Amino acid sequence: MKRRLTLHVPREAVHQPLTYRLAVDFDVAAKILRAQVAPNQSGTMVVELSGDIDELDAAEQWLERQGLRLDRAPGQLRIDAVRCVDCGLCSSVCPSEALQFSAPNWQLVFHDDRCLVCEQCIPSCPFDAISLGLDQPVAVTIQASVERA
Ligand code: SF4
Ligand code: SF4
Repeated sequence: MKRRLTLHVPREAVHQPLTYRLAVDFDVAAKILRAQVAPNQSGTMVVELSGDIDELDAAEQWLERQGLRLDRAPGQLRIDAVRCVDCGLCSSVCPSEALQFSAPNWQLVFHDDRCLVCEQCIPSCPFDAISLGLDQPVAVTIQASVERA
């Protein structure tokens, strides 16, 4: 199974080979979707962890013992249908094809089940139509999508 997490990494743990330890010690693969980590500073990473449920639980507990704070609801992408002009710029930077245009109407369709919450699309929108909501659990907001007839 897969879990998407935001890891808040304290300065003391920045130099640790976290993904290597997760793979070797827990058989958990960590795909880094976004990272803002600088040497000798605390940082933040959005990761997708893959493994068995027991191994994922053990890996998360180990990360917390290393001083990391885990945010298990990294947020949900929101697209403002009023601001969006269907220019297509955001779809060109999306690595998971969560933002698509298709014939015949060529309007933006957001497939939230494919979204990795990597946030690459947010700065690509010239109309500030894309934002990240951090205040709602994924289980609720996963229902939302932008699709117009
Ligand atoms: S955050 Fe944006 S660019 Fe990243 S996967 Fe989701 S829709 Fe695509
Ligand atoms: S870049 Fe912004 S305006 Fe253009 S299609 Fe994407 S959300 Fe809509």
